[in-house]
Amino acid sequence: MSARFGPAGNSESFSKVHKSSLVAPGWIAGLGLDCYEYQCGKGVHVGEETARALGEKARAAGIALSLHAPYFINLANPDPESLEKTIGYITGACRVAQWMGADRVVIHSGALMKRTRRQALDIALTSLRQVIRACDDQGYGEIALCPETMGKINQLGDLEEVLELCTLDERLVPCIDFGHLYARSLGADQGAEVFERMLSRVEEVLGEERASRFHSHFSHIEFTPKGGEKCHRTFADDGGFGPDWSPLAAEVARRGWSPTFICESAGTQAEDALTMKREYTKWLENAE
Ligand SMILES: [Zn+2]
Repeated sequence: MSARFGPAGNSESFSKVHKSSLVAPGWIAGLGLDCYEYQCGKGVHVGEETARALGEKARAAGIALSLHAPYFINLANPDPESLEKTIGYITGACRVAQWMGADRVVIHSGALMKRTRRQALDIALTSLRQVIRACDDQGYGEIALCPETMGKINQLGDLEEVLELCTLDERLVPCIDFGHLYARSLGADQGAEVFERMLSRVEEVLGEERASRFHSHFSHIEFTPKGGEKCHRTFADDGGFGPDWSPLAAEVARRGWSPTFICESAGTQAEDALTMKREYTKWLENAE
């Protein structure tokens, strides 16, 4: 096994030519990529027939699928009505993922809502426990929920918080968004030493087997000194936006891990995913 690479949703080069996501898996495989993250960030609006058809196309093309649940999920909101909604959004996303045969659903951790980080995390842990129970009850137990590290400082979801969420159930897989971690640390979290330390920490908390197949989002990100994440950029932008991919590629190759990297570049996510895969493959060959 080695790492997998693919785009988050459809890149501009794809959308210019194609109208339907059903041809995306074949197009992605044609580029030499391995996976595709279907975007339901603005809501789960895909019907059963389309979802099943996409799943079949993906399997035929050898493309692994994951699904991004709605952005407005907030595990850290203790209001029972809000939790009810959150559970509905996540089980709705799991239903579509099951139709597609996607085995991972990425979820955002939530906002602090003026609470301390510890208070917000405790609420999120309680909420996530109920989310998992609802997913099990409705028959989605085989789908791995992936809590994501977030890019804005006032959001819940630094690496430690996401790892603690993942300790709730051994099926949870962290979605480590390295662009987000870079943005919320105001550019500090990058480079060989930092990536080595992060991946060792994931291994320490979750064990090597689960750590080795982590889920990941990667893009260059612009940030502001107060808030963290401002916007996603592309590899071609020459504004000095990080994080630099190469040392992370080297570290993953050195460990022989097989994570899934979804590239979230703004518009060139398929092309940049391919750049990532090529760089990683170089390191992998060096490691052998
Ligand atoms: Zn996300």
